Amino acid sequence: MRNITVMKFGGSSVANASAMLNVLKIISANNSKKLVVLSACKGVTDLLIEVANFSLQNLSKATEIIDEISKHHKQIIENTLKTELRNKAREEIEKLIKQVREYSEGTHLLQELTPKMMDYFVSFGEKLSTTVFYYILLEEKINTALINSENYIITNSKFGEAEPNFTLIKSKIQKELIPQFEIYDTIIAQGFIGSDTDGRTTTLGRGGSDYSASIYGLALGANEIQIWTDVSGVKSADPRLVEQAITIDEMTIDEIRELSFYGAKVLHPDTIKPAIEAGIPIKVLNTFSPLDQGTVIKENFQESQPKLHSISLLSEVTKLHFHLDAKRNNNLQVVDILNYFIRRDIKILSSSQSETSLLLFAKIDNQQIDNLKATYTDYQVEANKGDLICLVGNNILLDKELLSELFKKIENYQVDYIQFGINKQLSLLFSKENTKEIIEKIHSIIGN
Ligand code: ADP
Ligand code: ASP
Ligand code: MG
Repeated sequence: MRNITVMKFGGSSVANASAMLNVLKIISANNSKKLVVLSACKGVTDLLIEVANFSLQNLSKATEIIDEISKHHKQIIENTLKTELRNKAREEIEKLIKQVREYSEGTHLLQELTPKMMDYFVSFGEKLSTTVFYYILLEEKINTALINSENYIITNSKFGEAEPNFTLIKSKIQKELIPQFEIYDTIIAQGFIGSDTDGRTTTLGRGGSDYSASIYGLALGANEIQIWTDVSGVKSADPRLVEQAITIDEMTIDEIRELSFYGAKVLHPDTIKPAIEAGIPIKVLNTFSPLDQGTVIKENFQESQPKLHSISLLSEVTKLHFHLDAKRNNNLQVVDILNYFIRRDIKILSSSQSETSLLLFAKIDNQQIDNLKATYTDYQVEANKGDLICLVGNNILLDKELLSELFKKIENYQVDYIQFGINKQLSLLFSKENTKEIIEKIHSIIGN
């Protein structure tokens, strides 16, 4: 392991001048060699998606949004840089903005917007934020370099959700990035973006900067990955949903994967995989309260006491109920239905089966439901939308007291589906109304 720390700062951590100055303070307080991975300033990725979409039909609206993005970054420069670096930083921002403008005009002429083009559009969010931050560090005379993640994070060509090629990434980073740490103390890189083997820009999926941090951490052999965000670690529920949510000191990798998979936006689900391989601890910390302890995510460890740790929510989920045909082989019917989902790359969130029924949960729209019903006319297929509530903890199934308390908490609510024991860590509930209340009630078990 090298004495390099990967520090990733999310969108709200680099949202504006004061947030960026906060980040400056945090990284200055850390004496090790650092790779600093930044997201786009809060909201900018969404704005770039709007730019891309408006470029097709309404070029002047697209230009208006590009102006807004440009103004935002220049404002940060005005508020942070005082020396001659201010002009230099402005020029660099102008160059990037010019590329967005030209691409927007090109999209308008072509009247085409492919996922590949969308990735190129959105890549500018991280290119802009890292450029501004680079100049803030230069102004502070920090020995720093700005790199382009397109040169290091090599992926396949699945635009919008590209998968990293770890072999190529490791070799690039070992040959070209590690030597740079002999010259620089702090190296800044864009999160979220990479490129395919033909050099075309790709992205790792929304929220993908966490993943970037983890990939860099693995390839660098970093001693720690720090995910700096706007809350003090992983909490017992989304604090936007449950005000009393408390920070969880330590969590296992499997727990955090389940939580992320079932909607807790605090970490990107794939983040964790590369770090597991290398046994690198991940810390989730608060940029706006840097002394708070936060959460450490570790390899799976066995706690002795059963405990409910956290609750997450995935809204607008469809529950599909297939009534299986008694005359046909049950297993073959199930495999056939599952294949339908595999072929269309639709993620199944949960499933359960009995002699007469197959239940599947997925995030699908009405058109997809209609297509599915049209394909499976032999079956009676019922589709219901609702919210999937996910309970994650340690051995929750073994704790009879906890289970009976849980049932008491929900006894007055209509819960459409309960699944215990997918594994000892996870249970799922499906509700169509009063979801927030149900979550608050269940959360009160954690608070006790
Ligand atoms: P960043 O921009 O730093 O990547 P995100 O918005 O992606 O930040 O993730 C942080 C947000 O995740 C928090 O503001 C919080 O509302 C949300 N969140 C959802 N579930 C949880 C949870 N269990 N613990 C902490 N935060 C959560
Ligand atoms: N900027 C990207 C997004 O908004 C990636 C990230 O913030 O992690 O999805
Ligand atoms: Mg995020």
